[in-house]
Amino acid sequence: MEETPNQEVKKKHFYRRPRYRKKPSEGYENTRRTPKKISIVIPLFNEEESLQPLSNDIKRVCELNKIEFDVIFVDDGSTDTSLKVLRELNKSDRRFKYVSFQKNYGKSAALQVGFKHVTGEYVVTMDADLQDDPTEIPNLLNKLDEGFDLVSGWKKKRYDPFIKRVSSKFFNYVTGLMSGIKIHDFNCGLKAYKRVVIDKIRVYGELHRYMPVLADWQGYSVSEIPVQHHPRRYGKTKFGISRFFKGFIDLVTVIFVTRYIKRPMHLFGFLGALAFLIGIIVNGYLSYEWIMGQPLSNRPMLLFGILLVIVGVQFFSVGLLGELMVHNSQNDTEYTVKEVNK
Ligand code: UDP
Ligand code: MG
Repeated sequence: MEETPNQEVKKKHFYRRPRYRKKPSEGYENTRRTPKKISIVIPLFNEEESLQPLSNDIKRVCELNKIEFDVIFVDDGSTDTSLKVLRELNKSDRRFKYVSFQKNYGKSAALQVGFKHVTGEYVVTMDADLQDDPTEIPNLLNKLDEGFDLVSGWKKKRYDPFIKRVSSKFFNYVTGLMSGIKIHDFNCGLKAYKRVVIDKIRVYGELHRYMPVLADWQGYSVSEIPVQHHPRRYGKTKFGISRFFKGFIDLVTVIFVTRYIKRPMHLFGFLGALAFLIGIIVNGYLSYEWIMGQPLSNRPMLLFGILLVIVGVQFFSVGLLGELMVHNSQNDTEYTVKEVNK
């Protein structure tokens, strides 16, 4: 039967859970159970105009699809009237909760603090600037229901300035290459997680760009679905071009964090030992020649050997220091919360 465009639209907005899902131990099971509650975490920094329409959209989509939800807005030290809007939103509907920072700590900090207050079994993150579309929430949840632990949005058609689109492509390509994760859009604000994932991952600095990498490293399954994207309606972007340089420095951090954080000696110890060994061989050879009567004054190789030995010892020491820090770093970073309402 031919579908009219109208039916098509209706279908898209309907939250369809799979009828049957196989669990390894239980065989086929009818999964027509109550849908899982979701918590939506929204970091925001000076987005006063967008908050009301965004909340309306979320409410409409979730109620239409019978999704039980709450929203945790994290006001990242806004200097406009965002906090006032959040207070009003909370007053009129208690499902819209908020945390407000004393100062601007950055998106990762906002997400991390937001994650502390989630109550749902599934957690969705999205930007506050109306660029992410709440109608995608049911689709993300469906994908989680398929068994994935993290589902990332893929802004297949992006409404961002040209320079940002190009550099973002490059960034995603390199991140995919370095991390081995096959998704197109690491930095999409719209993502859905199973609760266990966010309970496990700590996002600090600007590591929010690498949530899929961090999750994958913890052994969680990562997937993506194409999502609608919109141009920014109000205000302007909070990240300048510097994001890409910082982004790549962060990539080094992530690679290090995911591969070596618990064992820095494996990297530094190995490099240090290698440099030290080559240095010893070089200088041993030169010493042999010196004993055999060759003068060392015209052998630049000597300097190279000494350099390798020193660098080797230094790398080794850095590795040892790293091990000490890993051993002692059990403390969480603290953020000064100005106001909490949950
Ligand atoms: N954001 C934040 N703290 C910051 C910068 C940004 O909470 O220090 C929020 C911002 O309000 C928005 C989201 O992070 O909800 C994404 O920011 P933006 O739209 O500026 O990034 P872009 O879409 O340009 O990548
Ligand atoms: Mg944006």
